[in-house]
Amino acid sequence: MTIKSVRGTHDLLPESVQLWQRIEASARRLFELYGYAEVRTPIFEQTELFARTIGSDSDIVQKEMYTFSDSKGKSISLRPEGTAPVMRANLEHGLYHDGGIHKLYYIGPMFRHERPQKGRYRQFHQVGAEVLGSDHPALEAEVIDMLDRFLEELGATGLRLLVNSVGCPTCRPGYVKLLREELSKRQDDLCPQCQRRSETNPLRVLDCKVPACQPVIDELPSILEHLCENCRQHFESFRAYLGHHKIHYEVVPRLVRGLDYYVGTTFEMVSSKLGPTQNAVVGGGRYDGLSQLLGGPPVQGFGFALGIERLVVLLEETQDSQLPRPDIFLAYLDEQALEESLQLAQELRRQEIFAYIDFQGRSLKAQMRLANRLNSRFTCIIGEEERKSGEFPLKRMEDGHQVTLKRKAIASYVRGNHGPTR
Ligand code: ATP
Ligand code: MG
Repeated sequence: MTIKSVRGTHDLLPESVQLWQRIEASARRLFELYGYAEVRTPIFEQTELFARTIGSDSDIVQKEMYTFSDSKGKSISLRPEGTAPVMRANLEHGLYHDGGIHKLYYIGPMFRHERPQKGRYRQFHQVGAEVLGSDHPALEAEVIDMLDRFLEELGATGLRLLVNSVGCPTCRPGYVKLLREELSKRQDDLCPQCQRRSETNPLRVLDCKVPACQPVIDELPSILEHLCENCRQHFESFRAYLGHHKIHYEVVPRLVRGLDYYVGTTFEMVSSKLGPTQNAVVGGGRYDGLSQLLGGPPVQGFGFALGIERLVVLLEETQDSQLPRPDIFLAYLDEQALEESLQLAQELRRQEIFAYIDFQGRSLKAQMRLANRLNSRFTCIIGEEERKSGEFPLKRMEDGHQVTLKRKAIASYVRGNHGPTR
């Protein structure tokens, strides 16, 4: 029996990797324009980091983490998300000591033991960004503007931006109490999990995706009507800044995160082109309480995580995935001509030209067929005559146009004819 990849994990073969590289390159380029620098944290952490921050009543901590004991019996988990590790690194290395703003981004794999389905995997990948050290609503709008530019540049269309405020330790407890009261009247209409959460963490009920719970959720009081003056003003100001950036959004009061360290602004970007329960491409918000939960000083934070697999689903339709085409295919007639070709290829590659040589001992005819299949821009047939004269016949494949060139002239001719190739 052959060995297969683990359920919920995927190989990315060269044709799909191209799109991934494009996404990653756009993120790096664009995020850096907004002042972000990359951070790379380990793929596994102490389980405690996630247990403490994500919340022990969350699906992630309850059943989705890949947790194991190392040889000393320490509990280790593969990271299910990137924000807590970034905050841990910030505290561990004292980045906050300078009192400035730190804009950080990351790109990498995350791990959750969920039921695999389209757009939901056990190893998936996120691009995320975190701003530490400011609670300015204009900065929140700037983050969303950056995301908007990023998605537009890649050609992702039809995404809706949903925004909300989840209040703060001043106003949220009152709302949660009210929610608990309302939910206690509707216990019989709720799914078993919501029945439990009505007591333990009623905010999480708002997030439930079970169809039967939806009519109840729709009738629950809105958190926006229970914000304190600070939160109300912050949210209003955030929306005004979105307006300045000409960004469209919808206010969705049931968009919450059921964790105490989240305050104020939360948002999601969703697409109807994805499945009904995995339509979110981006999730983000403000987490001013996270640092203290990890034993650090107060550090304001705002950020998002974008699921690359879900973005890829949106982009795949528009993408004709093609492998890079060779600039020049060097076809050789015999062993000595192969040696000549190898040398020529080496020279050309040093000048950023993609030169291709066959290594399967094909006949000349078969080499030319391969050049066609690879869609090479030029071909050059090398035999005894070329070796001796140092002049090479180049054929432009698109129209059959031929020229004879000295070897030193080849690179600039190929480049001049087609510009930078990749
Ligand atoms: P969902 O409600 O879709 O499960 P989530 O709230 O668990 O999302 P976050 O923890 O906010 O997701 O992660 C941010 C983004 O990461 C999501 O919007 C999604 O694009 C992506 N994501 C989350 N879990 C997975 C997964 N198992 N497979 C692929 N992408 C995922
Ligand atoms: Mg999830």
